[in-house]
Amino acid sequence: MTRGDEHQLRALLDDYTSMVREALGIIVTNDVRSRRRAHELCYRRLRERYPHLHNKFAQEAYKRALAMYRSYRKLLNKWRRLPAKERRRVSPPSLPTVGESRVVELHIDTYRLDRKHGFLALTVSRGGGVYLRFLVLEYEYAMREIEGAKLCNSKLLVDGEEVFLLLTVRRSVEVREHRNKLIIDVNEDTIDCLLVDYDKVRAVLFSIKHNAGRVRANYRRIRKGIQEKVKSPRIRDKLLAKYGRRERMRVEDRLKKVAALLADIARKHSADLVREDLRDLNLNSERGSRQLNYRLATFPYRKFMSYIDYKFWERGLEVHEVDARRTSITCPVCGYADKRNRVNREMFRCKRCGFTFNAQYVACLNLFSRSNDGMVAIRGGRLVLISRKAAQVVAVDVAPHDAPTPDEVLRGKPARIPIESKIPQIPRAGNH
Ligand SMILES: [Zn+2]
Repeated sequence: MTRGDEHQLRALLDDYTSMVREALGIIVTNDVRSRRRAHELCYRRLRERYPHLHNKFAQEAYKRALAMYRSYRKLLNKWRRLPAKERRRVSPPSLPTVGESRVVELHIDTYRLDRKHGFLALTVSRGGGVYLRFLVLEYEYAMREIEGAKLCNSKLLVDGEEVFLLLTVRRSVEVREHRNKLIIDVNEDTIDCLLVDYDKVRAVLFSIKHNAGRVRANYRRIRKGIQEKVKSPRIRDKLLAKYGRRERMRVEDRLKKVAALLADIARKHSADLVREDLRDLNLNSERGSRQLNYRLATFPYRKFMSYIDYKFWERGLEVHEVDARRTSITCPVCGYADKRNRVNREMFRCKRCGFTFNAQYVACLNLFSRSNDGMVAIRGGRLVLISRKAAQVVAVDVAPHDAPTPDEVLRGKPARIPIESKIPQIPRAGNH
């Protein structure tokens, strides 16, 4: 960016912020709720006051102001619905204001990305024949996402000396239903999986350790140490915030990698995902399941699920949700549900039919039958899946002792190597 462009950019940021502020004033005074009304009241006024700016900036400005006012009204309504006693204690939300803003919304008509002499350049049309030009630093992961995608309304973020382009892109991903299934049961330290391969007439149960629970336990210890040893409240808070950030980053990094790994395994076997229905989480917590509430409080469960869904969709695979209530205590063979079926952490033994199995995988087997694909049965002393769709009997292998490494799963052969020794596919985030 040249010095002249930088000056132009700061001026644009100032003008844009003033526009949002003015639009917000109009919207609040007139209690505007709809986009159309906002347009009627704001657009012409903003255009008259800022004739040198591209008309799309006026449009984006009142849209942003409207969004701010809408979220304020949402909070206000929530506050109004509080019982009178609580309402006296909690103050109502304050009206939104526009402080110093660092963001300029770029309508798709106001910017262009193109390559000149091998460099990627961003051109922003300010209006009045003025163009701002930026040289874009290209990051590989970002460029991968942009390739073949359609650019949408985006944002410029000005942070001190640095300018960031927050690009929104739309990509069409072809989704088709696959016959094979990858069924997952997500836990605090592992993801237990059942891969059903109808093409090869086999299924394998395996487990991937993501160890997010252990990472969190480590940080719990660090936090405790800080609480005990650091006396100054200021330094203590600072340290706690720092380690909190680091913990979040490490856990998220791990979960993202595991999500990508799962999706790669599924793509290799052209399998769609079957996972528990997230609505069950709400149902259960309302009933006050203590164990589940604990699980939700200590593990970014929903976030992890959204990473997984995203990675599957990205690869053109489908995601199916099934009812997961009581899956850990229900017998997959006869359907009898009883807490006592679960002898201990390791062992499951059905009180009615005597089916005995590694407790870790029982939920997966139940998810399979609830996915409507078929049923779980014992034939000739072997665990099999009787498939409704493909009309065949699929033998189930269990990865013995410990989980196979992702590599071995991809090669389709259960392994005997503890996954811990081979985890490099999910690199640790390191001590930064
Ligand atoms: Zn049973």
